Amino acid sequence: MTATTTGVRARTAARRSWWADGLEAAIWLAAACGIALMFASGGLLAATATDWFYTLGRALGIVAAVLMMTQVLLASRAPWVERAIGHDRAIAKHTRIGPVAIILLLLHLVLMTWMTGIYDGRSFAEQSLAWADYGWFMLFAQIAAAAFVVVLVTSVAAVRLRVPYERWHAVHMLVYVGVAFAVPHQFLEGSTFRSGGLAWWFWAVLWTVTVGSFVAFRLLRPLVLMRRHGLTVESVDPHTDGSTTVTVAGRDLARLRAHAGQFFLWRFLSPELRAQSHPYSLSAAPGDRLRITVKASGDGSSRIRTLEPGTRVMIEGPLGVFTHGARARGSLLLIAAGIGVTPIRSLLEEADPEDDVTVVIRARSRDEAPLLDEVEELAQQRSARLELMLGARGRTWGTSEQPGSIAALVERRDDTDVYICGPREWALQVEADAIAAGIPRDAVHREEFGW
Ligand SMILES: Cc1cc2nc3c(=O)[nH]c(=O)nc-3n(C[C@H](O)[C@H](O)[C@H](O)COP(=O)(O)OP(=O)(O)OC[C@H]3O[C@@H](n4cnc5c(N)ncnc54)[C@H](O)[C@@H]3O)c2cc1C
Repeated sequence: MTATTTGVRARTAARRSWWADGLEAAIWLAAACGIALMFASGGLLAATATDWFYTLGRALGIVAAVLMMTQVLLASRAPWVERAIGHDRAIAKHTRIGPVAIILLLLHLVLMTWMTGIYDGRSFAEQSLAWADYGWFMLFAQIAAAAFVVVLVTSVAAVRLRVPYERWHAVHMLVYVGVAFAVPHQFLEGSTFRSGGLAWWFWAVLWTVTVGSFVAFRLLRPLVLMRRHGLTVESVDPHTDGSTTVTVAGRDLARLRAHAGQFFLWRFLSPELRAQSHPYSLSAAPGDRLRITVKASGDGSSRIRTLEPGTRVMIEGPLGVFTHGARARGSLLLIAAGIGVTPIRSLLEEADPEDDVTVVIRARSRDEAPLLDEVEELAQQRSARLELMLGARGRTWGTSEQPGSIAALVERRDDTDVYICGPREWALQVEADAIAAGIPRDAVHREEFGW
């Protein structure tokens, strides 16, 4: 790889880190501005303990509203969120922030009900019932709170009871009902916002951008892409290791600006699969076709084999930052286990011919290693070094006979980007080994196949 290419990649990586920091800073700033505007409009009541708790309740509502917006934005598939942190990190953040946002909203509800009750001489229960008299929007806000409680409880139960993804996801959609029902009370009841002043505009712009991004990128874009590209299944090829490769054809696919290592959310419009949308990485560098390779692991992925050529396809994406664009260094180490080979194979295919590339494939046996023949052929074409680690588990991420060691694989550790994709525990082990071997943290890229 030339010095110019290294420089361009370093600048791209730096720009991405700016985007990520900028996004996070924008969230903090929005919360700070929201509270400042509340104080500016006389929202700081501090004469009695009741005033303090009332003020706290309002401030919590503002922070919770900003977190809810963040949640909707993180799940909106908006390109700037994608560029900044990538879909998997966005979803990981969404998962972490979700419970905090809901708990803050519920605390807001409890404090506002309790303190308003004290001001108006009502008990907590009486004030809860009295909210409906303030207007339809307060009834809606209570319905929103109920929806958030259902989502919180079912999310905890789903993890514990291993509820199927589709069922959990259907209930999770209640969050959007909750947001839609909660927003009107912010404008119609909150005294800061009713005025139509700066605070009103502040929140109106934030909610418009948030909801607009969701509608544009999550709801309309898949329909636009389907119409524009006319995607259909071209071929379905089952492999002996149990995986299946699906090739999808369409018009003008270059406009998707997809890259090797990225993934799409795929909805195949066959009677068995139209109700499900699943993430699958590109298993070949995108060109005039898109290709995925799927391992049967559950209900949806097992039915991929039954797809018929000609089936229409809806996609969301391209998503993810597990691409050459994330690189800043000269050498490349690609490590895959099992079906984690899909993005690794496409990255190998799209690697610069001048790149110094090492590929490691970890599997129990040759027969259980998806796409191995293709990886071998590509490695040979590109003069990449290929290490096969076939065998039972050992104490490291390698096999019992061939211990995995990044230090032994990489000479120029400060000049190598490492891409890892495979089962989570295994991938974490490889990542820890890479960092212990001296690979800079920002040069270790890990793709997860589960959120
Ligand atoms: C970024 C990414 C890339 C992936 N690439 C590939 C690939 O190239 N090849 C491959 O075989 N598998 C890939 N997977 C895994 C694949 O998405 C799941 O195996 C598949 O969705 C399972 O669905 P199911 O109905 O068969 O099983 P289920 O039993 O319904 O689900 C099993 C688990 O898969 C996950 N899952 C299911 N549906 C979704 C969804 N819509 N969104 C997110 N997670 C979901 C959940 O963690 C769930 O617990 C990828 C996953 C991710 C997140």
